[in-house]
Amino acid sequence: MSLDKYLNKLRALEKKQEQYISPCSNAFILNIIRECCESNGTPTFFNEIKFEWNNRLTEKAGRAHYAKNLVELSIPLFNRAADDEVWENTIAHEACHLLSYRLYGRQGTGHGYYWKITMLKAGYEPKRCHSINREGLRRKTRFSSIVCDCGPKLVANRIFNRIIKGYSYKCVNCNTRVQPLVAAQGSR
Ligand SMILES: [Zn+2]
Ligand SMILES: [Zn+2]
Repeated sequence: MSLDKYLNKLRALEKKQEQYISPCSNAFILNIIRECCESNGTPTFFNEIKFEWNNRLTEKAGRAHYAKNLVELSIPLFNRAADDEVWENTIAHEACHLLSYRLYGRQGTGHGYYWKITMLKAGYEPKRCHSINREGLRRKTRFSSIVCDCGPKLVANRIFNRIIKGYSYKCVNCNTRVQPLVAAQGSR
């Protein structure tokens, strides 16, 4: 196998494997959605909003489905961003889409006046996050090994460093907490 072919194969494998880790906890996400609802005077709407991880969503970090009250979050882009502030802004951005639709109807769709008001009330700068998302895709990602009940896999180093620091990550496949897989430090 040529080196090029080998590298392509390795990259494809890495891409596949990093998709197994949900980048941040449910509590983190739900908290942000709850705060957005509360600060817009509709605390009970929080109970209607659902969120789902999507490992094929790569054109943006998040997506809102008005009809389903559903926020979809991209596993690959959240993994690459690995930054609380980027995550928070993306979650709030999508939650505010659902909120402004609920509060203002059709005129609340898109990134217009009513969505901006909803974002401001929630305490966020009403800007589109797309530049951040593309940046996340363009950034060269390095990987490290982790392990869960279904075996070893690779994660972006940004996530790996958070795991080392003690952040808890669960495998979306087997739902066990992943552990860093560190090579023996030459001590034998
Ligand atoms: Zn948007
Ligand atoms: Zn697993």
